[in-house]
Amino acid sequence: MAKPRIAVHKFSSCDGCQLQFLTLEEELLQLAERVEIAHFIEASSDLDGGPYSDFDVSFVEGSVTTPEEVHRIKKIRENSKVVIAIGACGTAGGIQALRNWGDIENYKRAFYTLPEYIDSAPQSTPFSDHITVDAELAGCPPDQGQLKYVINSLLNGVQARIPSEAICLKCKRDGNVCVLVAQEKPCMGPITKTGCGALCPHQERDCYSCFGPAETANIDALGRRFMGLGMPPHGFAHRLRFIYSWAPIYREASERWIVRGAEYRPLPPSSTGANP
Ligand code: SF4
Ligand code: SF4
Repeated sequence: MAKPRIAVHKFSSCDGCQLQFLTLEEELLQLAERVEIAHFIEASSDLDGGPYSDFDVSFVEGSVTTPEEVHRIKKIRENSKVVIAIGACGTAGGIQALRNWGDIENYKRAFYTLPEYIDSAPQSTPFSDHITVDAELAGCPPDQGQLKYVINSLLNGVQARIPSEAICLKCKRDGNVCVLVAQEKPCMGPITKTGCGALCPHQERDCYSCFGPAETANIDALGRRFMGLGMPPHGFAHRLRFIYSWAPIYREASERWIVRGAEYRPLPPSSTGANP
């Protein structure tokens, strides 16, 4: 039986998500026994017919930031049975989406000697703005365990179930002492999607939400809790405008907290309102 053909495509990104595949090392070799890694520019110059060949599964990394990338992702969608968007860039536009609040023409003039040669879309956008994606793996970068789980699920013909609960639940299961409650650090864990293994709280650091919003995120309660720690409303808005700034729920809340943040009442540090 022919092996399933897998591709890893790069768009506008730092390549960090692709490195999550490459640093699987021996496991990547085991995977190569079960699938044909047909197109993966970061790993091999043998591109097997180019990005528009037929693939069983295409992983797509990066955000869509140029007219050429809009065209390319549509062609990849046409030629792939399954398309999985990976990383903060692919699922929400990434850190580069911070430019979406400004005017791209001003940036081009400010940073490039010959701005007329820069062919850039007005905004940095996720793949789901342009095509139907079959699954999304969040994270900057995504978790290798989740990558392996999704690939194994596909190979075994079962539906992958990617958890979308808040990181706090992982902390509770692991017995972490809460850094928000015990150390009054502005941890974004109560509104951040699980998947990283609660890496930062495990090291007694506050989460900065590199996995993006959890499915049920009580954003205003967390903002009020941070106000109770002395953080001004625009400080909370800037916590939202970071790696997942263009995720709709963070985008909307950051705008609201900048314009109307002073209207919110702080929750005192003793409150557990934002923390499950
Ligand atoms: S607030 Fe942060 S440290 Fe506390 S339980 Fe949630 S994720 Fe863990
Ligand atoms: S705890 Fe938060 S900031 Fe740290 S790796 Fe996980 S999602 Fe990213």
